Amino acid sequence: MLIAEESETDSEESDVSGSDGDDDTSWISWFCNLRGNEFFCEVDDDYIQDDFNLCGLSSQVPYYDYALDLILDVESSHGEMFTEEQNELIESAAEMLYGLIHVRYILTNKGMSAMLEKYKNYDFGRCPRVYCCGQPCLPVGQSDIPRSSTVKIYCPKCEDIYYPRSKYQGSILPFFYCLLLLHL
Ligand SMILES: [Zn+2]
Repeated sequence: MLIAEESETDSEESDVSGSDGDDDTSWISWFCNLRGNEFFCEVDDDYIQDDFNLCGLSSQVPYYDYALDLILDVESSHGEMFTEEQNELIESAAEMLYGLIHVRYILTNKGMSAMLEKYKNYDFGRCPRVYCCGQPCLPVGQSDIPRSSTVKIYCPKCEDIYYPRSKYQGSILPFFYCLLLLHL
């Protein structure tokens, strides 16, 4: 079962990289489908376009405006101005910004129900303990400071925390995930 899931992810990933010129995929769905980003849900464009929701983030992320344009698939006329290296910095700034927006989004009703759906689909993995009989887990971060610790998974049945099976890139996930438990 797990092997099947992994090879599925592999093929999705190669699909994505093989269709660079394909405009059908938004940056957000491309990013969320990358291997290692399974813990992210897709944040609504409307949520990101509301400046109020992004308050304070511009000081935390370099190349903020360009990163935001990238996330929202806004064609930037500055694209050619940048070197390859700068474009890479903007790409990684966009990933960080998305993580920070995601933290806020999943506290909204819409975001929380998107995460609940992922939980029900076992997207966050299952508890490795035999007696938990494949109980779906929730992602937890033990710190809300970006990149200070990696994501773990929490089993609501045995109430223990485990290392996820694969390495996840999304290290910006807060302990607020436990709020989801209130909805279970
Ligand atoms: Zn368990």
